[in-house]
Amino acid sequence: MERVPERVLISGGGPVGLICAYALAKENIPVIVFDENSELQEDPRAATTHPATLELLADLDLVGKVIEQGLICPIFRFWDRPTGNLVAEFDHELLRDDTDYPYVVQCEQFKLTRILVDLMRSMTAADIRFSHRVTSVSQEDQSVSIEVDSPNGIKQFQGRYLIGSDGGRSTVRTEAKIPFEGFTWAERFLVLSTPFDFEAQRGMCHRNYISDPEEWCNCFKVAGDGPPGLWRTVYPEAADVPEADLLTDEYIQNKLQNFFPSRDKYDIVHRNLYTVHQRVAATFRKGRVMIAGDAAHVNNSIGGMGLNGGIQDAVNLAEKLIKVWKSGASDSLLDKYNDERRTFAIEFVQAQTIQNKNRLEAKDPKKRKKFLDDLQSIAADSKKARQFMLKSSMIEAMRRI
Ligand SMILES: Cc1cc2nc3c(=O)[nH]c(=O)nc-3n(C[C@H](O)[C@H](O)[C@H](O)COP(=O)(O)OP(=O)(O)OC[C@H]3O[C@@H](n4cnc5c(N)ncnc54)[C@H](O)[C@@H]3O)c2cc1C
Repeated sequence: MERVPERVLISGGGPVGLICAYALAKENIPVIVFDENSELQEDPRAATTHPATLELLADLDLVGKVIEQGLICPIFRFWDRPTGNLVAEFDHELLRDDTDYPYVVQCEQFKLTRILVDLMRSMTAADIRFSHRVTSVSQEDQSVSIEVDSPNGIKQFQGRYLIGSDGGRSTVRTEAKIPFEGFTWAERFLVLSTPFDFEAQRGMCHRNYISDPEEWCNCFKVAGDGPPGLWRTVYPEAADVPEADLLTDEYIQNKLQNFFPSRDKYDIVHRNLYTVHQRVAATFRKGRVMIAGDAAHVNNSIGGMGLNGGIQDAVNLAEKLIKVWKSGASDSLLDKYNDERRTFAIEFVQAQTIQNKNRLEAKDPKKRKKFLDDLQSIAADSKKARQFMLKSSMIEAMRRI
């Protein structure tokens, strides 16, 4: 019988696939990462990295580099748009006894992927192949095989395990016939990035949630290519307006002027429109195939939990695979990956992000008042504020696993 190559195959070289590859290669477990793009993408999506994830990045010796390229942000604020009032301010300093990282780091996900690819260049166990699209998956008793569309034509690869970290439209999940259960929101999220200084000009801190029954907004600072940095603003957009209309200069300038009136035109660096889902895969493991990150779960971006959850998946899965590979642990340990991370995705990330969205957009005046009053009273009481932040920083749910 032909020998199965001793390696782990990874479909998708986004942040989740690369973290998983790095954690395995660091332990000399051979990995091949396949990504359909010809190079890393400068994708203006995730930036907020929560304390619970920073702790995991520290265990992998990555946290210093992430902090170096990001912004340390201890504070976040909730605003009421109709009155312009500050409703609540939360300071992670209250978590000083709970974590070595009492702050979030705003580090764009493309920086994390660059850090990982650079580190893996010198690792003999890591092989990263761009312009390689995984197109099909099959499993045997002792191995898993994939077909890959590469610059040199269709190729077959075999390995011991396959990790599908190929994003929300995951080919691996589809090929493994794993249902992606949940729903898609009617509205899309428009993300606009500008160097306009919302701190100096509008009194914003680096993470702001602006509640409004008509049209909410989030406003964050990211480091960009260095000082003065970039600000990202996020808005809900109706489902029935064509994408092209929402991305015109005129529409975008009006949108920003409507929220943040200014004498000058805004300089726009990125404009992106995203469809927003709440979905979790029916299982994160099927035989020798595991899925992680957006391939396994997607959620709205309010609270910044999607990639955090994905990094946590990658670390959890890598730890278990290392035990199976190197210490002869039974591969039923991989079922625990499914149990732990799927429960986390459903009971914590889905529930929390849906609640975050409801809080920002509540239309019923009574409900809205209650949300805002509750936030105000939580922020005013340091014990309650600590409990609130243990949740928002993902520490409480991670400690529960
Ligand atoms: C506006 C916005 C803001 C966000 N902000 C935050 C935030 O602040 N904090 C947070 O935690 N999360 C945030 N998220 C979510 C975050 O961006 C995602 O959870 C994250 O990108 C998931 O990473 P991933 O590696 O699983 O998937 P992806 O980043 O989608 O990477 C998947 C990779 O797989 C590759 N691929 C796909 N199909 C194939 C194939 N068949 N073969 C080979 N390669 C393939 C793709 O090229 C890609 O490189 C945000 C999302 C949005 C839309």
